[in-house]
Amino acid sequence: MPPHLCGFHSRSWDTLLTRCSAELTGLPEAERNWLTARLQLIADYQCELDQLFQLARGPHACTSCHGQCCDCGRHHFTLTNLLGYLLQDLAPPRPDASRPCPFLGEQGCTLDAPFRPFNCVTFLCDEVEAGLNAADQQRFYQLEKRLRCVYEEIAARYPVASLRGLLIALERSDGQSLLKSAAGRE
Ligand code: SF4
Ligand code: SF4
Repeated sequence: MPPHLCGFHSRSWDTLLTRCSAELTGLPEAERNWLTARLQLIADYQCELDQLFQLARGPHACTSCHGQCCDCGRHHFTLTNLLGYLLQDLAPPRPDASRPCPFLGEQGCTLDAPFRPFNCVTFLCDEVEAGLNAADQQRFYQLEKRLRCVYEEIAARYPVASLRGLLIALERSDGQSLLKSAAGRE
């Protein structure tokens, strides 16, 4: 079984980073600009969602419940999240394959809010949701809709960026280029 099929292990992660960085370097300028604009939009939406999460005292609630929902986070991280780091020349945190979610650290999520998975930044459990007033809840779910559209736009162009998650998408990609457009580029 290829190493990426059973999780983000150290060697497969390094190989993925090298491969993804090389493909980004080789992108034509227009394609890079297309991607940069969408990743910026994602980062902006996610920062606002995170502000609402903080306003609802989400971090306090999550510490008390020991990050229960993160136990199901194994497949949340997508290629789009990785591209967010790499396109800004930032190093993503190293995944830990022994954790229920490979990005769950001792102090919570090791990913920065602009690059956290869609499923994570848009999830409000009942307790956290109750910490937002009606207007803020409405804004939260409006942002979720807009954010989903951008993720889906990227996934429609690059199938490996599927919201099903990077591990599953890599498994199904049969070694194809990460940034190969589904429709082909002009
Ligand atoms: S979002 Fe809710 S369920 Fe998830 S870790 Fe935080 S408090 Fe717990
Ligand atoms: S990526 Fe972060 S927020 Fe999402 S499940 Fe993993 S640890 Fe939790």
